[in-house]
Amino acid sequence: MTTQTVSPTTQTAPSRGSRWLRGLREVLLHAILQDRVIQRAYPGIMHLLIFWGMVIQLIGTVIVILQYPLFLPIELAWPRGTAYVGFELVMDMGGLMIIVGVLMAAIRRIIRKPSYLINRWDDWYALVLLFIIALLGYSTEGVRLMSVSPEWRAWSPIGNLFAQAFTAAGLDLSGGSSFHDFLFWTHVAVSLLFIASLPFTKLRHMISGTINIIFRPELASGALEPIEDIETVEKLGAGEIDEFQSNTLLMFDACVQCGRCEDVCPSTFSGMPYSPRSLLQALYASMQVNLIQSGKSNGPNSFEEKIARENPWLCTTCGDCIATCPLFIDPVRAVIELRRYMTLTTGDVPGPVGEALTHMERRGNPWGLPKENHAPYLQELGVRILQPGETTDTLLFLGCAFGYDNRSQNVGRALIGLLKRAEVDFAVLGPAEGCCGETARRLGHEYVFQVMAEENIATFESVKFNRIVTPCAHGYNTLKNEYPQFGGNYTVLHHTELLAELIAEGRLSMDREADDQVHTYHDACYIGRYNKIYDEPRDVLGAIPALKLSEMPRNRESGFCCGGGGGHMWMEIDPNTRINHRRLAEVTDDAKADVIVTGCPYCLIMLDDAIRSKGLVEEVAVKDIAEVLTTHMDD
Ligand code: SF4
Ligand code: SF4
Repeated sequence: MTTQTVSPTTQTAPSRGSRWLRGLREVLLHAILQDRVIQRAYPGIMHLLIFWGMVIQLIGTVIVILQYPLFLPIELAWPRGTAYVGFELVMDMGGLMIIVGVLMAAIRRIIRKPSYLINRWDDWYALVLLFIIALLGYSTEGVRLMSVSPEWRAWSPIGNLFAQAFTAAGLDLSGGSSFHDFLFWTHVAVSLLFIASLPFTKLRHMISGTINIIFRPELASGALEPIEDIETVEKLGAGEIDEFQSNTLLMFDACVQCGRCEDVCPSTFSGMPYSPRSLLQALYASMQVNLIQSGKSNGPNSFEEKIARENPWLCTTCGDCIATCPLFIDPVRAVIELRRYMTLTTGDVPGPVGEALTHMERRGNPWGLPKENHAPYLQELGVRILQPGETTDTLLFLGCAFGYDNRSQNVGRALIGLLKRAEVDFAVLGPAEGCCGETARRLGHEYVFQVMAEENIATFESVKFNRIVTPCAHGYNTLKNEYPQFGGNYTVLHHTELLAELIAEGRLSMDREADDQVHTYHDACYIGRYNKIYDEPRDVLGAIPALKLSEMPRNRESGFCCGGGGGHMWMEIDPNTRINHRRLAEVTDDAKADVIVTGCPYCLIMLDDAIRSKGLVEEVAVKDIAEVLTTHMDD
């Protein structure tokens, strides 16, 4: 491969003003309203109670401090009268929220502990400290109410309860205010201890997590960060901890080890010796030893001892961890940096990975097949091949799978039949169509990817079209979200979107009713989670008269990976830890479906492989959505 790459032309940089606005919106939505935290009801409510209880207490404490002329020449004269009564009530409720939240957390950590939750000393340290602070606050308030007994004391209900309890216990305040002072100063001291603990305990996620939310890379969903100036840059990937970018190091620090990523990770679920949380924690431990504790690393800065060599290769880049993490931590970013180092710097990659990359470099596709073998059916079906300078409305980009894989070629045929039937003005690039490069990029070979992207963009520029349509979920994501990094900005549609459009316009209709077979739609990660195409494929299936559709438990946003992404299509996976087998079990046991419908060639191949290796060929079939439509139409 000799083509020169050009530097990524990352889209016009946003102005400083829009960056500030984005930062503010992100903080409001994700750090203050905590929209992701609340996605899981019990821990979400628990966390919100603690967080908002603390916010109320913090604001209230600042207001109280401002009543004294400590920092300002004038004293704050608010709240007074009715407002003061309201203030007392709100502060009282804030403390109650903390106590309820802490008790919920304790119950979750002891009684209803999910398997992914781990207990560490600082989890308990934070909870105990918060509980003590709240109790001390109420005790101080109770003693104050006892001695002053204001008319409004009922408006501080919990403080009043403490006052009544002290009275019932025979507490004698005749000796003056020493007990109140003791409680007050102990409350202040424990609160200061809490603040001082922030940098050394999990509590620091309040700061580092918020900073991570603001400063995480601004990338399109599903896009990886390009290596700028790849021809000349010295650092390719991360082989030592200080070779990660600063916002990636910040991300390691922000992880609060909640385990939500591990809970959804298909690799962990399938029994692979891998978990995104463990990977992040290993990198954080290395960062602590090399960059924090020793100030500046003098000796070896490597994390080799902490991360098994195979670790970065066990992620399918399905993105579920990214979508789930309440702090927007992206383990895939770390995985890709590690892979880039092994692929581009040391060349020390697993055998099948090396083989797939060699195929891409020598033959221009991961199948390693000659160009002449690409989509022979195009000629047979008389599809127009676009020549330089020619125009079409819809450019059909088939991609490698539909070109070289025998099973997937049937899908290509079915799709072309549908486009012809709907009289779509379409054409293909024929021999000029190159691999989109997605596999190379996900396997860490950014150079090969950039070369392929540049070549395809040059080809796209040589013809004229209104939109690109592709039946490949991975190609769709790459063309839509990653080619703009290199100046290739196009309207890109997945074929499920186009088919839904054609059905809605009445240009495609089914002639036959469905039979009794139950169908289930498998959401491919790269069109589902990364690109939110959930409704269109279901609309298409819903247009087939009498079709029985059953959903798997993990669908749409929480769709479970087929095990083929992130280059896993080309890797040797231990038969005991195959993700596709786990997904197939959901099809047969939960959805009780006879047909799996998908819109991705990798899902098609992986699920087909699972069906065969489980000996279920008679019971279940996997089909692309174009094939399903075709079977419900007359010839
Ligand atoms: S990466 Fe996010 S989801 Fe995973 S353990 Fe850390 S904070 Fe939790
Ligand atoms: S991207 Fe998917 S496979 Fe990779 S760590 Fe995240 S959840 Fe696991």
